Amino acid sequence: MLLLEERKQVIQYLRKMLTTHLTVGTGGNISIHNVEKNLLAVSPTSMDYFEMEPEDVVITTMDGEIVEGDRVPTSELSFHIALQNLRDDIHAVVHSHPIYSTTIACMNWEIPSVHYLVGFSGYKVPLAKYATYGTKELADNIVNAIGDNNAVLIANHGLLSVGKTIQSAYTTTEQIELVAQLYYQTKSLGDPVLLTKEQMDAVLAKFYPH
Ligand SMILES: [Zn+2]
Repeated sequence: MLLLEERKQVIQYLRKMLTTHLTVGTGGNISIHNVEKNLLAVSPTSMDYFEMEPEDVVITTMDGEIVEGDRVPTSELSFHIALQNLRDDIHAVVHSHPIYSTTIACMNWEIPSVHYLVGFSGYKVPLAKYATYGTKELADNIVNAIGDNNAVLIANHGLLSVGKTIQSAYTTTEQIELVAQLYYQTKSLGDPVLLTKEQMDAVLAKFYPH
């Protein structure tokens, strides 16, 4: 079986997404790139995460062609493929529908530097324009929005995070959901004080030392 370790990680993190309340039902998907084999492990569509077995995870080429697996890959395969091919530092993509991030996305707002933890994304969390889920148009909108950031809000839909590893992409999802909740709460009190570019420069230098 190809990419057994990545298959197990896809399942482990899909389950974690439910137990940590970052999504409900089967609303979420994950892809992990094995650099050595240059193949992608992708979650299958519409399957209970707690019934999923390693053989249910689909293995595709970096063009999205199925190499191994009987299941249909996630309906969001097109944006997983687009992101995995976009930057050298992207080897994992986590997509979810967490309440606060999705609330901000339904306002069609970005998340600015309201708290230093936005640094898990970058200087902000940008917003990708709405398009029907599963379409190439949505993948294009996400690619156009992400820039150097590690997270993107998808208008009227949800959140996605990218990383070198599934651990880092997942942590970014968790931290950005916290920042989204803080942004929601500060906006309900008034206008939050945002960190300046210089203040965020200092945070990002600590987050990503060279
Ligand atoms: Zn979704």
